[in-house]
Amino acid sequence: MPTYVYRCGDCEETIEAMQRFSDRPLRKHKECGGPLTKVLQAAGVVFKGSGYYSTDSRTPDTATES
Ligand SMILES: [Zn+2]
Repeated sequence: MPTYVYRCGDCEETIEAMQRFSDRPLRKHKECGGPLTKVLQAAGVVFKGSGYYSTDSRTPDTATES
């Protein structure tokens, strides 16, 4: 199932929703009731950026960045 990213126009929170193509898009942020806008996202791209998991590790490789 594809994951869609929405952004709330009120609180600017970004949420992810798993929906089928046949499902209606979300329109309302359930937390605050603000309007949701669908954020276009390239397929296969991890939302928090690639390397998110590798930077979390404590291998000596990441130490060279600083
Ligand atoms: Zn909101």
